[in-house]
Parts: sequence; C-alpha cells; structure tokens
Amino acid sequence: MSAETDNGKTIRVTNPADGTVVGTVPVGTAADVSAAVDNASGALGKWSSLLPRERGKILFNAATAIRQDRERLATLLTSEQGKPLAEAKNEIMGCANVFEYYASISGSIKGDAFPRSDYGYSITIKKPLGVCGAIIPWNMPALIMAWKTGPALVAGNALIVKPATSTPLTCMEMASVIRQAGIPEEILRIIPGSGEEVGSAIAAHPGIRAVSFTGSTETGRKVESAACGTGKHLTLELGGSDPMIVCDDADIPAAVAGAVAGRFYNCGQTCTAVKRLFLFEDIADEFTAALEAGVAGIKIGNGLSPGVRMGPMNNGSGRERIKELVEGIRESGDGTILTGGEIPKGGEYEKGYFYEPTIVTGVPAGSPLMREEVFGPVLPVSIVSGMNEAIEAANSVRYGLGASVWTESISRAAKAAEEIEAGIVWVNRHLKIPPEVPFGGEKASGTGRENGIYAPDRYMTEKTVIISP
Ligand code: NAD
Repeated sequence: MSAETDNGKTIRVTNPADGTVVGTVPVGTAADVSAAVDNASGALGKWSSLLPRERGKILFNAATAIRQDRERLATLLTSEQGKPLAEAKNEIMGCANVFEYYASISGSIKGDAFPRSDYGYSITIKKPLGVCGAIIPWNMPALIMAWKTGPALVAGNALIVKPATSTPLTCMEMASVIRQAGIPEEILRIIPGSGEEVGSAIAAHPGIRAVSFTGSTETGRKVESAACGTGKHLTLELGGSDPMIVCDDADIPAAVAGAVAGRFYNCGQTCTAVKRLFLFEDIADEFTAALEAGVAGIKIGNGLSPGVRMGPMNNGSGRERIKELVEGIRESGDGTILTGGEIPKGGEYEKGYFYEPTIVTGVPAGSPLMREEVFGPVLPVSIVSGMNEAIEAANSVRYGLGASVWTESISRAAKAAEEIEAGIVWVNRHLKIPPEVPFGGEKASGTGRENGIYAPDRYMTEKTVIISP
C-alpha cells in the first residue's frame, strides 16, 4: 500500500513512484463520523435556506479557485496517486468543470406542476435530504469527489466525504480550496480513515440520508449491507470490465490510439478503461502490430518527470494481483504475451510500483483476464468472427459499466449501442464523460447515475403539495 498508519493515529501517505512520504493525515473514527453528522445538522439550516442561485454562485467561485490552484493540486495528486502530471492536471480541471456545471444548473432544480384534478392543483417541490455521505476510491480521487460534492451541495445538503487511505491529501486540499469560496466547514467535511471504520460508519449512520459510493463491486456490496435498514438513498458506482470492439471497417489508427489511451491511461486503473479488446478477424493482424508499436512508445516513470506517459500503479497489492494474473497466463498457456508482462528493473523502477504496459493475445473467454476486472496495465485481446459474437462476448461477464464500438457503419454502431449491456456505449472513442451526461453502470457495475441534470435528485426528496381551490 502507499499509505500506512503510525500507531493507528495518523495515515502516512507515500508516493507510489519512490516511497517518499508525501504527507500525513489523522486516522478518522466512527465517532468522528457521528460528530460530523451532528455539526452538519446544526449548520444545515443556513446552507439549505440559501437561494439555489446563491449556492450556485459559491460553486462557481469554487470552480475558479480550483482552476487557479491547479498546478499545486495536480502536483499533489501525482505525488500521492502516481498518475502523470498531465493526467492529474486534466483531472483537476475536470473538477472545476464539474463545479461550474452544477453552478450553472442551480436555478434549474425544480419540481413539477400537474393539471387541475377533482382535488385541486398539484405541484411537487424538491427538498435537500440533509446530511449525505460520499465514499471515494483512489484511482480518480479528486474527480470522483467533485462528481458527488457538486450535486450534493448545489441541492442544499451537507456532505461527509471519506477518501481512500492512499489518496486523502488531494481531497483534503481541494476541500479547503472550495471552502475558501464560501462553503462552511460543517457542510463539507473530509474524514480520512479505513473503509472498515469510517466507510462503514458512513454507510450505517441513521442520520446520513444518502450515500454515494464509488469503488469495487465487492466493497459496494458491503456498503449495501451496512446501509440496509437505514432507509438511505444509495448510489453505487462499481467496477467494470469494458469491452472495446473493433470492426473490419474501423479507422484503424484512431482505434489503435483509442485502445492505447483507453487501457494505459492512469496505468490501467480507470473504471471505464478498455479492459477487453475484441478484434474482427480480418483486421486482427494489422491491428495488433500497430497496437504493439503504440505501446512501445509509452514512457514509464515518475509521473512528475517530463515526457512520462505512464506512472506507477497506486499500490503494491494491485501490482501483486497484476503480476499473478500474468504469471497465470504463462503457466496456463491461455494466451501469448505480445509485449510487457514484467516489473521493469533497475534505477528508479526499483523504488515504485511500476509494471510494464502489457498486451496478451489469444485470450479465451474463460480466462481470469477476461472474466475479472483487471485493474492495471494489461490488455487481453481476442478475435471475433463478427458483431454477434463480439456482443455475446461483451455481455458474457458480470459487469456492465462502459463499452465501445469502432466502426464506420451506423447500423453496426446502433446494434452495438442497443445490445451491449452497459451504462455507456461510445462509438469511435472510449473514456471521457462530460459533466452534463449521466454516468453509471448496469449489472454488477452499480445502480444509480452521477453527472447530468438529474444527479442532484440522488440527494433530494420530492414533496407533493395539493392545493384545494
Ligand atoms: P475499494 O472498493 O477498495 O475502495 C473504495 C472506497 O471504499 C475506499 O475509500 C475504501 O477505503 C472504502 N471501503 C473499503 N471497505 C469499506 C467498507 N467495508 N465499507 C465502506 N467503505 C469501504 O476500491 P478502490 O480499490 O479504491 O478503487 C478501485 C475500484 O473502484 C475499481 O473496482 C474501479 O472500477 C472502481 N471505480 C468505479 C467507478 C465508477 O464510476 N463506476 C469509478 C472509479 C473507480
């Protein structure tokens, strides 16, 4: 792990590229969660009674403050998470865009009006739920915090955020930047600590009315169990194993670039990374040769060094799992390692959690590389005879987060979009979701949607008012 505790009192956050200490934060407890709920409840009246456009103005100022501080926040993000600085800057700028988006819709969160009935006139009004919770993973800690903070706060709630133990620092710094824009400390509280203690306390607390969780499917199930019986609204953004289907009429250079970025961005640790690649047989040889060449150009190293395109993995246990999966391929012969497949040796590589970008071809459907969520820089490739087989393979796993199809044919694109079981299907691209567009998963990838104009609804209740004339 790139985070350890000192005497159970503080979490030591270390840089996954070289093991140096980036900072320390206090270890939160269930008692801290209860105290934060009490404090937030006390402060809520003032915050929730602001006019929506006044909250919008504060969020707009928060977006500006994040943009102004992007270099410092991005450097901190790279130092604790490992991603290249350019990716960290994108993530921080993405946060500013998210806050700006929720600022822009602050005046549009509204109920409904209905035709007059026998009983009179009916309207619905939207009301904030109160104190809400957010549980955040380490792979995109800042952006995922923004996805939850923007809609929860614009709706007039307080939010208690638990960051992952290996990446609490950027979340805490971003919160302090946002607070300077006018959000009271009680309304946005960050409590670092373990999932078992702080995460489950947030899930189980009866005073927390909604929880938005992003993380693995297994942890999501624990959050569901802990929340069971509390009647809270749950949004679960869970793991994925996105398929990418490349048809024989695709723009091959564009698709190769999409596969390289889609798999190796963030060292393969993105929920919607390309995790399974299906190639139509007529283009398979040409595509894999170009893919191998594309991967050869990826410079690995400390994310703060110029020109680095892939940093270390975030933590040792994740790298250990990747190593085991690749060793499993070597032992079983279920696939050919086309490139990579090793921990790089020598110099700076000895100090961090580096792993080579890896392509494995000829991977059968039953292989763990095809069935599990592979959360690191390994891309399994398989050949398909056509669209029906590709869609069947795409749908054969328990996940249903994202998917992409690469084709010049509108009817092939439409068929894939219709039949692939996923929360989002891209055509001729993979990754990247603008804040206006709903995002979430099907099947074991989750329930509920984040982003978009309806995201504040996850943190609101609707009251019906019937007025007798
Ligand atoms: P994780 O499930 O291990 O941890 C996520 C968060 O849950 C962390 O803050 C962790 O401390 C906390 N946690 C752990 N145990 C808990 C418990 N018992 N109760 C409550 N909280 C607990 O996930 P991770 O390794 O941090 O992140 C990677 C996973 O997140 C991958 O599966 C990835 O696909 C998924 N993810 C999904 C999305 C999405 O939008 N669907 C986005 C990003 C990441």
